[in-house]
Amino acid sequence: MLKRMILLGPPGAGKGTQAKLLAAQNGLAHLSTGDILRDEVARGTDLGKKAQAYMDRGDLVPDQLIIDMIKGRLDESAGFILDGFPRTVPQAEALEKIARIDVAINIALSREEVIRRLTSRRVCRHCGKIYNLLYNPPAVDGVCDACGGELFQRDDDKREVIENRYDVYMDATAPLIDFYRKRGLLKDVDGSQPTKKVSEQILAMLGS
Ligand code: AMP
Repeated sequence: MLKRMILLGPPGAGKGTQAKLLAAQNGLAHLSTGDILRDEVARGTDLGKKAQAYMDRGDLVPDQLIIDMIKGRLDESAGFILDGFPRTVPQAEALEKIARIDVAINIALSREEVIRRLTSRRVCRHCGKIYNLLYNPPAVDGVCDACGGELFQRDDDKREVIENRYDVYMDATAPLIDFYRKRGLLKDVDGSQPTKKVSEQILAMLGS
């Protein structure tokens, strides 16, 4: 099976959900730069302090901070799923120097659907499980099915910030689709399908 993969796609396409599933099923490391940054912010580290204002606006954190953060966390031999990285062409070029990539999976979703999904996304504060009040609600309002933790709405899942995040995605990140297509590494999935369907299609692409 292909073991070093990138998940591309706009915010809300399901990268985090799919990465968690794939990582658990295949024993791969799940590296989400968004999760790492949120943890740095919560712990009040230097990096967290530098990153917070960008994140609050839905802008990208500067490339060099992200590249330094990801270096040393990638273990080529163990295999990994990159979720939310690379987000720019300079990040993708830096990644090429750090690790080999087997496949880049582009989970496509329209702007309208991104906004619909993200405004109704909730995340467990304790275990990170992702819910959607429209498609995948918890059994008990505000409580995680898996661990009983409290569900919350990410600060950047507010409508104005979501719209900016989508524009930033189109401007800075969507060019990576061609970047990986040219290298023969790109595979496309329709992210508007139910989670299970998307996951089955990705698994079929990975040859497992
Ligand atoms: P995410 O959880 O992937 O949606 O990321 C949340 C926020 O963290 C983004 O809106 C950015 O501000 C920041 N971020 C995450 N990954 C990156 C990255 N690779 N490059 C720059 N900023 C990032």
